[in-house]
Amino acid sequence: MIKNKIKIVTRKSPLAVIQTEEIINSISDINFKIITVESYGDKNKHLSLMSDVPPDFFTRELDNAVISGKADIAVHSAKDLPVPLMEGLEVIALTKAEDSTDCLVSRDNLPLKKLNRGSKIGTSSISRKKQLLDIRPDLEIVPVRGIINERLALVESGKIDALVVATCAIKRMGLTSKITEILPFETHPLQGSLAIVAKQSRSDLKVLFSKIDVRMSYGKVYLIGAGPGIRDLLTIKAETILQNADIIFYDDLIDKTLLNNYLFHKVYVGKRKGKYSLSQNEINHNLYEAAKKKQVVVRLKGGDPFVFGRGGEELVYLRERYIDVEIVPGITAAQTASASAELPLTMRGLSNKLSLLSGHNAEENFKTEGETLVYYMGASKLKEIKSYLIKQKHDIETPVVLINKAGFWDERVLLTNISNMNVKLQKSPLIVIVGKTAGLFRQRKKILFTGINPYNCLVPGHLIYYPLIKIHPIKFDVDITKYEGIVFTSGQSVHFFCERYIIPQNMKILSIGPQTSKELKKYGYKINSEAGFPDSDVLAELIKNTNLKKILYPCSNLSDNKIHKLPSVEKKVIYKTIAVSQVKVNLKMFSGIVFTSPSTVDSFFNIYGNIPSHIVVSVFGKHTKKRLKEKGYIANVQTILPAYAECPHEVGG
Ligand code: SAH
Repeated sequence: MIKNKIKIVTRKSPLAVIQTEEIINSISDINFKIITVESYGDKNKHLSLMSDVPPDFFTRELDNAVISGKADIAVHSAKDLPVPLMEGLEVIALTKAEDSTDCLVSRDNLPLKKLNRGSKIGTSSISRKKQLLDIRPDLEIVPVRGIINERLALVESGKIDALVVATCAIKRMGLTSKITEILPFETHPLQGSLAIVAKQSRSDLKVLFSKIDVRMSYGKVYLIGAGPGIRDLLTIKAETILQNADIIFYDDLIDKTLLNNYLFHKVYVGKRKGKYSLSQNEINHNLYEAAKKKQVVVRLKGGDPFVFGRGGEELVYLRERYIDVEIVPGITAAQTASASAELPLTMRGLSNKLSLLSGHNAEENFKTEGETLVYYMGASKLKEIKSYLIKQKHDIETPVVLINKAGFWDERVLLTNISNMNVKLQKSPLIVIVGKTAGLFRQRKKILFTGINPYNCLVPGHLIYYPLIKIHPIKFDVDITKYEGIVFTSGQSVHFFCERYIIPQNMKILSIGPQTSKELKKYGYKINSEAGFPDSDVLAELIKNTNLKKILYPCSNLSDNKIHKLPSVEKKVIYKTIAVSQVKVNLKMFSGIVFTSPSTVDSFFNIYGNIPSHIVVSVFGKHTKKRLKEKGYIANVQTILPAYAECPHEVGG
């Protein structure tokens, strides 16, 4: 709940202020106060962006204002964001870019190809310079900085002949008529987007700005290791995600039949006869495009994605674009081989060290790239490990990651470096990873997921599976021939019903939304009608408008909605929802909770009594929200868009 004015800090330039007003105008009924400050980059116009400027060149002063409490939020051009952000801050919204292209503004309105030989073109970006020279090697590139109008003035005054600039900036300034042409350049992945930054603890602001957060309409990418390809060496997690996947990008898995049992859309991106079907950049791009739709995207790789699997490149590419990525490890070839051959990779007295190496250009690789060292059993030996590494002449700045209880909900991860590693975390069980890739570590938000299936929930962040309910089928009998239609409001009801009965061909099938329809399709059924919005009220309206006289409604014992009130509908309870108790977890480690049904809310309040204020609560459907209200909790609740996930089992049925 936002009671006071929101103080919003921005840079002083006219463009920055226009961008900030754009944000303000997109949020109604809230009072804002704009504070402008000069960023380090604004104060130091003599510094060229082509030289080595700090990553927070345009953001530092603004983010400091947020940290110190002078402002609640900062608005940045998303492409200026430093990675990682200042400690304690978070990007709470990223707006959709209306235009991510670059354009040319030239004095006599001459397009790039027609500019006179040797013309002077202004840009301060290395990438634009390179792309300009690729097309016109004769041009002279002049570094320019300053606000848009200052840069445009350079063209008008004749100091330069043309300027390359972000099209969105020109448009925002209302100067579209100045554009000579749109350039076919590859631009920064976040060009045109605005980013709102706030303190991590501000769940109120997160909920408020989630309305304009483009990430809420994105899907999720699971980077999955398929293991050696043999079905029983696939992990349970991988298998569960595959069952929920909408689209999958796969390589040459050893056992292709692994893919045959699923409904997802399959895209082959592997290597045949030594030739890649797609370049790595094309694969990255395809993953990104797929993830921008609200769907479960799987990138399936042989072995483990992070062992010679190029998973790191895909992760970094997607992360730069603010796509939520989850890594699911797989059994790597070395493990399979060692198991098959019955030879241990380590053994007391024979070997206490294991290296995984690439045979490709072996000599060269050793020279040019770094090495990743992983220590097991090091919790009490950090000091010794450190001295050894220093003695071995490792750079003391080399990143080190310490991971305690890896993979558990209460896992703790610390990024440090060799020189500081011994003082940080000495808790067993501990894994220590030393090397340049350790520097890629970023803490992902942890979200407590209280429902049954975390893998069709696209709330961004690491969903920790913490079910507070379970469901049980009930034995039931029904004379299916009595009905003209059948209505389903959850995947579970489809599952339990279809395991027992075959729906006759002439019976009309009605579904509440895409998730339920997906389950029906798994059983080979076509859906006659689907609610335009996954909500039981909407579906009830749709049922009313059909002229079906007798409709069967298989549902849970807790099902209670408008569909039940329709005279044509006859309910049949086919499964029960039962509360599950769980060990109490430390909610401080979580930034969000997802409730999928009123009963998950009940179970949660039975265990915890309340919800801490830093938590963003996401709910499926209005019935769940209502239950929270009944519990006295109305603060930071966001309803997950229908685009995201549909009503859960008992909201509808
Ligand atoms: N990410 C994969 C490795 C990909 S590199 C993993 O973690 O296993 C591909 C190499 O893996 C192959 O050239 C081969 O050396 C090895 N490999 C994969 N599957 C194998 C198998 N079943 N038997 C032997 N080697 C295998």
